[in-house]
Amino acid sequence: MEYGTRVGRGFTLWFTGLSGAGKTTIAEIVEKELRQRFGKVEVLDGDIVRTNLSKGLGFSREDRDTNVLRIGFVADLLTRNGVAVIVSAISPFKEVRDQVRRNIGEDFVEIFVDAPLEVCAERDVKGLYKKAFSGEIPQFTGVSDPYEPPVAPELHIKTDEETAQESARRVVSYLEEYGYLEPVEALNRA
Ligand code: ADP
Repeated sequence: MEYGTRVGRGFTLWFTGLSGAGKTTIAEIVEKELRQRFGKVEVLDGDIVRTNLSKGLGFSREDRDTNVLRIGFVADLLTRNGVAVIVSAISPFKEVRDQVRRNIGEDFVEIFVDAPLEVCAERDVKGLYKKAFSGEIPQFTGVSDPYEPPVAPELHIKTDEETAQESARRVVSYLEEYGYLEPVEALNRA
């Protein structure tokens, strides 16, 4: 693929991983850069989607799958219309992630944001792990509910081994390499 051959095409960056792994943090850095360099950007954050599009859904497997399919549906519409879509959602089940992948097709970029459970629990950004370990929150992904890691993600990011800036740089480099973004040599490459 030559540089620039997909410039202007939409795509979906799908960040999946445990709570606290770093999805939102990395997504926010990528979002800023894409707003400058790409233009039309939409963010679908799992926590926010659950307050509107998926309001009322719980955390059973069925409800989680419904949530992910809804996010995937919107991401697909936007992608087809030339938008840069950024999704941050735990999206724990492989089958339904793969279904979204099939719907969106080649413009789907799965990014596995990976950190050991102990690291996520240690960070405990929202204080949820404490409650999950004590049983106050049931069906908590990684603690009392499954997380099925991607088998062949386009990008595998280990947030206990690299900084959020470095991870975001890898995401942007991927988009440059696959022709979605014109490479800007100097940008953020201090
Ligand atoms: P998620 O969206 O996956 O639930 P968040 O991005 O909300 O996770 O939280 C991740 C936390 O981990 C943040 O407090 C962030 O500052 C911290 N963190 C530490 N190292 C990294 C890293 N390398 N990448 C991303 N986040 C990191």
